[in-house]
Amino acid sequence: MATAQRGYYDILGVQRDASADDIKKAFRRRAREIHPDLHTGAKKTEMEKKFKELNEAHEVLSDPDKRKKYDQYGQNWEQAEAYEKARQQAGGHAGRGGAAGGAGGFSGDFGDIFETFFGGRGRGGNATGFAVDGEDLETDVELSIRDVAAGVSRRIDLTERVTCKACGGSAIVRGRPCVVCGGTGTQTEKRTIEVRIPAGVQHDTRVRIAGKGQPGVNGGRPGDLYLRVHIQANGVFRQKGSDIHVTLPVWPWEAALGADVMAPTLAEPVKVKIPAGSKADSKLRLKGKGLPTAAGAHGDLFLKLKIVMPSGLSDEERALYEQLSQGRHGDPRAEILAASRRHSS
Ligand SMILES: [Zn+2]
Repeated sequence: MATAQRGYYDILGVQRDASADDIKKAFRRRAREIHPDLHTGAKKTEMEKKFKELNEAHEVLSDPDKRKKYDQYGQNWEQAEAYEKARQQAGGHAGRGGAAGGAGGFSGDFGDIFETFFGGRGRGGNATGFAVDGEDLETDVELSIRDVAAGVSRRIDLTERVTCKACGGSAIVRGRPCVVCGGTGTQTEKRTIEVRIPAGVQHDTRVRIAGKGQPGVNGGRPGDLYLRVHIQANGVFRQKGSDIHVTLPVWPWEAALGADVMAPTLAEPVKVKIPAGSKADSKLRLKGKGLPTAAGAHGDLFLKLKIVMPSGLSDEERALYEQLSQGRHGDPRAEILAASRRHSS
């Protein structure tokens, strides 16, 4: 055996317990750095070799089955697999008797094994032919609760790496390093896109905009753009899932006698009926006036009644209150006074 090869985990720069997502990200990041199309001359040849190595490491570690075998057998996992496959197939043929057509069936199977041994599976010897998918991007968006109610279009500014226009990605202009890209062959470019954020999104969740991430290299698919949603606090409307809660102040006489009052909703204010004899903190439900849900339904809007007192009393009002105080009412504190005695004993 020749000198020890670098392990696939080292090549990708990840730990042995890296998740599938970590591996995907590491591969994309590394592929961008060493993609042979972004280099020239001796560097290109070196990068082609590294890129081939990287692709091989990714091909194995991104496939749970291959990764398991690699973890078990190390660099020789393919031979181990071929050996197992040959053993299983030999068993299979024995079971099927002559049905497979004797030697004809076998030669095909051995062909597979030889290809597996010598890596001739049409992976392509030319490293520059590999497609690399673009990276996903994530950005924050601030939404008002009304944006959430109706859905909203937003312009999002993105920065992406593109091939340098001055040197066409070769990093060299007239025999000297390209000054525009500093010899990297790439430069950053601003891009503004308009995205539609659907109604009913939840705070601190992500909205996926397919295909709006970084572009792929060599025909690779573009990544996705993720928008992390922040819903701004609102002094009137409080969101709980797809329901909206509003505190609605009412005068004592409105609660006592009943009244038609205007109440805010996410659209226009609506007239609601306060039932006679309403208690403080009781709730009125406006069905379907909440936020849209993912299933296409709507949450509700709840109005919590808060009984408020006028700040000053006219002589006339004072007289009316005095009249009220003469009425026959029990002590509103009777219940808590009784309870306090029970608990203190
Ligand atoms: Zn350049």
